Amino acid sequence: MTGYVHDFAEGDKDQKDLLGGKGANLAEMTNIGLPVPPGFTIDTEACRAYLAEGGFPDGLPEEVTEHLTALERTMGRQLGAADDPLLVSVRSGAKFSMPGMMETVLNVGLNDESVGGLAASSDSERFAWDSYRRLLQMFGGTVLDIDGQLFSEALEARKQEKGSDSDLDLDVEDLQALVEQFKTIIRDETGRDFPQDPREQLDLAIKAVFDSWNTDRARLYRRQERIPEDLGTAVNVQAMVFGNFGMDSGSGVAFTRDPASGDQGVYGDYLQNAQGEDVVAGIRNTVSLADFAEIDRTSYDELLEIMKRLEEHYRDMCDIEFTVERGKLWMLQTRVGKRTAEAAFRIGRHMTDEGLIDTDEAVRRVTGAQLASLMFPRFDEDADRDLLTVGVNASPGAAVGKAVFDSPTAVEWAANGEDVILVRKETNPDDLSGMVAARGILTSRGGKTSHAAVVARGMGRTCVSGADDLEVDAAAKRFTVDGGTVIEEGDTLSIDGTTGEVFAGAVPVVDSVVVRHFEGDDSEDDLIEAVDLVMTRADDARRLRVRANADTAEDAARARRFGAEGIGLCRTEHMFLGERRQLVEDLIIAEDEAGQEAALAALLPLQREDFAGILEAMDGLPVTIRLIDPPLHEFLPELTELSVEIAVADATGEQVEEKKRTLLAAVQRLHEQNPMLGLRGVRLGIQIPGLFEMQARAILEAAADRLDAGGDPRPEIMVPLVASVRELDVVKRHIEAVARDVAERRGREIPHQVGTMIELPRAAFLADRIAKSAEFFSFGTNDLTQMSWGFSRDDVESSFFSAYLDNGIFDVSPFESLDTLGVGAFVRMGTEKGRETRPDLKVGVCGEHGGDPASIHFFHSVGLDYVSCSPFRVPVARLEAGRANLDAD
Ligand code: PEP
Ligand code: MG
Repeated sequence: MTGYVHDFAEGDKDQKDLLGGKGANLAEMTNIGLPVPPGFTIDTEACRAYLAEGGFPDGLPEEVTEHLTALERTMGRQLGAADDPLLVSVRSGAKFSMPGMMETVLNVGLNDESVGGLAASSDSERFAWDSYRRLLQMFGGTVLDIDGQLFSEALEARKQEKGSDSDLDLDVEDLQALVEQFKTIIRDETGRDFPQDPREQLDLAIKAVFDSWNTDRARLYRRQERIPEDLGTAVNVQAMVFGNFGMDSGSGVAFTRDPASGDQGVYGDYLQNAQGEDVVAGIRNTVSLADFAEIDRTSYDELLEIMKRLEEHYRDMCDIEFTVERGKLWMLQTRVGKRTAEAAFRIGRHMTDEGLIDTDEAVRRVTGAQLASLMFPRFDEDADRDLLTVGVNASPGAAVGKAVFDSPTAVEWAANGEDVILVRKETNPDDLSGMVAARGILTSRGGKTSHAAVVARGMGRTCVSGADDLEVDAAAKRFTVDGGTVIEEGDTLSIDGTTGEVFAGAVPVVDSVVVRHFEGDDSEDDLIEAVDLVMTRADDARRLRVRANADTAEDAARARRFGAEGIGLCRTEHMFLGERRQLVEDLIIAEDEAGQEAALAALLPLQREDFAGILEAMDGLPVTIRLIDPPLHEFLPELTELSVEIAVADATGEQVEEKKRTLLAAVQRLHEQNPMLGLRGVRLGIQIPGLFEMQARAILEAAADRLDAGGDPRPEIMVPLVASVRELDVVKRHIEAVARDVAERRGREIPHQVGTMIELPRAAFLADRIAKSAEFFSFGTNDLTQMSWGFSRDDVESSFFSAYLDNGIFDVSPFESLDTLGVGAFVRMGTEKGRETRPDLKVGVCGEHGGDPASIHFFHSVGLDYVSCSPFRVPVARLEAGRANLDAD
């Protein structure tokens, strides 16, 4: 197609990029012979040129003239002519439907003269003046950007004067008076008169559609929905048909199935003597389609016939807008209808049963995000709620519990059977026990990748982070909302991690049947059948394996129930917290080798037990255990706190234990400016070889125990933060020495592999060398993102990420969804280079991105063997891995 402007007869439904969704579907309906008022689409290329040049691009006005003339010829009327005017609607329509944009101006072409012509040709004064006041109102609001309330208040006042609450009771004089009033509003608000020239009206409306692409609302919507900034919108100009002609006319919206439940059967609303916007604006009560059948059987029958045709044609649930003008049905819009997650799965199953689609298509049509939303418990939407504030929707779900402000209280109250919500300014590794004990976590600082958010998602705990209206006073055990409401320890809160809402009191929660099903509950439910149909096919179709990130036997067992095919990352640092922290302290402050060995010897049986449980839960499946990664000072008291404690004691002459002073010296020695770039990962293993050796021994002995018990353990020992093959070689030598020793003592070989994480750019560059030593790779895309961008993961999100999002530097945080261009290039290169050395190298990913749908599609495309994610995201990853392979076909 050439030029910027295209007649409806020219396009089809697959041209959404160029014609926008509305334009493409109007073209499609025109071409399959449905009754669509004629018109044309100004394409998105024109919009992009307009936005770049700051005005209509060369040739566009002439093209509009050409198509308008053709439309006038078809209709036998001229735009805004004084005797019998052609009127048009102007409607925006981007590739994706975007409620943030200007949508519609109807009745363009009316002015002080043509209103008379319309009255004469339609034989209805009232209709003509009603149409004119609607034009002024819509044009004023959407094109001239006047506060819509000024118009609606004037309309309301007029109705009140009449003592009626229906616009239908306004007569010609009322409407004429309103027109005058509206014109005055326009003059007062813009400093100029309403443009009488029909073509000027049209041009201004077109420009307003283009400009609406960049309103704040539209930008915000795009950001939320991850719609690219540079698509632009199309404009549809269409001959008007009138639903406001009288009671034999009207407008309606309809869905070919129920968009909330997915149930079969049409569903919609109709309003007599009304134009389209009245239906959605709710100015009068609409009637159901069943009532519409009573009002106008012929149009109803035709509508049903068309809906059936549309479903067969689109092979999907459609939503439509229609108008009846004096008993004649017109189609104004159709599109594949938006639906709830529940409806998406049910419709997939029904349409498969009906033979409209196959199961591959049913899988393609649902998303991991929809499945995830079905897995979280939710608040009952019909219940009363007392909203306190809205924070960041960090980890979905609905949690109710008593507010507590520190971890020990959370643990204590939970042990007494109380449900608690842990409220903190922000969380740190010390809060872990409290987070485990709590039903949900609420913080006033930090974004979607803050400690609270990441850990909560990992555990499947509900979390609202960054609720910055809250002033959290942990010492006083309370928070204040925006200087007003105070919530004390023990007060009940409800937090919605799906929306970020925080409520006072207990909002009733309903359980997810889908999770119950994954957990093994076999009660029947049609939603479950629909989910099962899709999951079975997705599992069949996928090439990527799905493992879980799990650190405990319980998590591992749950992950297995959810379909995990092994553990991709067992972070061992969690195993050094709580009571065991003392042993880590002992290790760090040990003055000689004997002291170190004693501390390690105390840790060994505890670790062995941890690993045995996990290996048992994942019997027969691979379990990747990562040797300890974080800097050791994370297990020590905080520097300032400890210094102050000792200084205060010294000042008051109190006795200070010698051990405390040694500890302080250790804390000072281990203090780092940039801990993320300091003594962590493999560096720790080289600096304190006994630590990694103890862990390796614990893993291998646990495996030996499992073998003795007749099990099938498949441990994979993973070394973190390797940059050079020489680092890995050093550590691997130690591990293999331990393996030989364990084999000798136990009298059998312990099957195991030693591999590495690839989470530094250097490692990706030199992956061919590293693969000489590594038996497997796992991409740590959290660190790889941090190290590629030079971002400190814990700092950047809350400080400047929103400016980056506002400026369109990212569409989404690279910690949430893989930056495929940059970080992804390292993943691709690392995989290719690794396999140059070892063609059958097993490669996976265990960063947060392993559970992110878009990232999973990327990992599929670069040929990884598996993704690993938190247990709760395992079903989502299974589904997306299936979709990725079906998309690739
Ligand atoms: C990673 O860096 O992606 C990773 C999984 O390790 P962690 O998040 O524990 O640093
Ligand atoms: Mg890492």
